[in-house]
Amino acid sequence: MARDEFPQDVKAAVARRVNYLCSKPECRVQTVGPHTEPIRSINVGTVSHITAAAPSGPRFDPTLTPEQRRSFENAIWLCGTHAREVDTDTTRFTAFQLRTWKREAERDAEQNLGRRSSGTADDAAVEVAKAALRDQRIERLMRAYNGIGSEGVERAIRSFTDLSQEEQAEMFDMVRAGARAGRLPKRNPFRSSV
Ligand SMILES: [Zn+2]
Repeated sequence: MARDEFPQDVKAAVARRVNYLCSKPECRVQTVGPHTEPIRSINVGTVSHITAAAPSGPRFDPTLTPEQRRSFENAIWLCGTHAREVDTDTTRFTAFQLRTWKREAERDAEQNLGRRSSGTADDAAVEVAKAALRDQRIERLMRAYNGIGSEGVERAIRSFTDLSQEEQAEMFDMVRAGARAGRLPKRNPFRSSV
């Protein structure tokens, strides 16, 4: 079966919409720059499939049509390192998570459009710490969801006083969507879990 590769215009759009920065929140490295020869440039980024281009690939979704598989919606821009990482460990990097990364990378690019890149080491460190903490919280809450239910999750999120109400609401939606997508093994209600 042929691989459903992305057309050139889709690739360009995916990269440009995140300003050619890796979409992994803790990364955001710049992926394009000048080559020694004039007119040429170097690109260390790549358009990855959120769900694979062929049945043997990572996160393959058989319910998609070939058109959907090579559509903008199924593409994410990553640096070479993280493109490899997400396609190697598909338990850790789910389609849901990659879609979240893409959405946030686009939102960041939108917020930074027309601004100077801040890029101080301190700013970067703060961003990395925030992103890591957020991912940790979401992952744990998704795992707890079946046990404590949506009310429990909501209460837990409300205790994160470092987040604005809007950020809390967004986190709640993400946890609920992730838990419903069934990315984590559901508990068997007929067997007591001790
Ligand atoms: Zn990266």
